[in-house]
Amino acid sequence: MDTIIGKLDEQKQEALNKAAQIIKNGGIVAFPTETVYGLGANGLDENACKKIFDVKNRKRDNPLILHVTNQEMVEELTSEITDDQKKLMDNLWPGPLTIIFKKSDKVNDVVSCGGDTVAIRNPSNEIARFLINNSKCPIAAPSANISGRPSPTNAQDVYNDMKGKIEMILDGGNSNIGIESTVVDLTEKPYTILRPGFFIKEDLEEYLDEVVYDKSLVDQNVIPKSPGQKYKHYAPKTKLVVILGDMNNIKNFVENLEIDTKEIGFILSEETAKTVDYENIKIISKRNDYLTFAHNIFSYLREMDKFNYKLLVCEGVKEEKMGISIMNRLKKSCANNIEQI
Ligand code: AMP
Ligand code: MG
Repeated sequence: MDTIIGKLDEQKQEALNKAAQIIKNGGIVAFPTETVYGLGANGLDENACKKIFDVKNRKRDNPLILHVTNQEMVEELTSEITDDQKKLMDNLWPGPLTIIFKKSDKVNDVVSCGGDTVAIRNPSNEIARFLINNSKCPIAAPSANISGRPSPTNAQDVYNDMKGKIEMILDGGNSNIGIESTVVDLTEKPYTILRPGFFIKEDLEEYLDEVVYDKSLVDQNVIPKSPGQKYKHYAPKTKLVVILGDMNNIKNFVENLEIDTKEIGFILSEETAKTVDYENIKIISKRNDYLTFAHNIFSYLREMDKFNYKLLVCEGVKEEKMGISIMNRLKKSCANNIEQI
């Protein structure tokens, strides 16, 4: 059998080398991952990490995820690796899963926000992996949006938020998954999903005895265990309402809004879109196609936001399977402005 070595073309290699150089020099590079675009800096360089907080306008109590490409890097950054942590690393990495570990002294207080744990992810995106390997350091990277805005899933959306604030954006096309990684805390029992993503509880329970959702994901009156989850998030500038229930009632619902439908932007499933003739509709996916829904949601919210409509109406999904993670994002996007129709 012939073994082929896939070489990156020269231009791409040049861009990657330049990006790695920027990271090594303490600068910031936005880069694609399989989930959303990240805003990357040398995770071992406190000053570089501080810059991330400044350009994002991120609250100082919201720790950063460190991105790595192998287990040796995890060993450096952690004080202990349990059997269960190893099980998830072996089975679900590289991929859209962030695991919380007890941190080692190598992890600075800017990354951990003074806590004794560290969040680590091993992304599968080829460009992300090249960047980490060429920079020769773990890369601290939150999503590459201004805090509070929808996460960017393409280079243009990053540019719109970060123009003039960071040194470089690596363009890797559209992010595959479209919503952020699942964050699971394995430092104490019960193991807790702090943020649902591509992987949900049942996926992790293939390898672990029991995993629970953080109480705040189920009860909105509980303060989230993960600092980032308590802030306003993913919000378009235009007011957004998420609709759930029987979509046969959408016309009634819209009539009662008493807004000219020309001034409303709709994000609807293919099935619902067929039943209405509003002017501004974006079809997000088939009703039960959660993968496509997740892939499109942040870019569609940003796109619809450009038209200065009076209102955005987005059809929600059932809180089952990956729909759990989608509704987690949508509830924040609309600040819980959800209508059962
Ligand atoms: P992002 O800001 O998009 O990178 O999302 C990262 C998420 O992981 C945020 O919700 C953070 O609060 C959370 N996170 C990062 N580090 C930790 C940690 N050590 N413990 C708990 N949550 C963390
Ligand atoms: Mg984020």
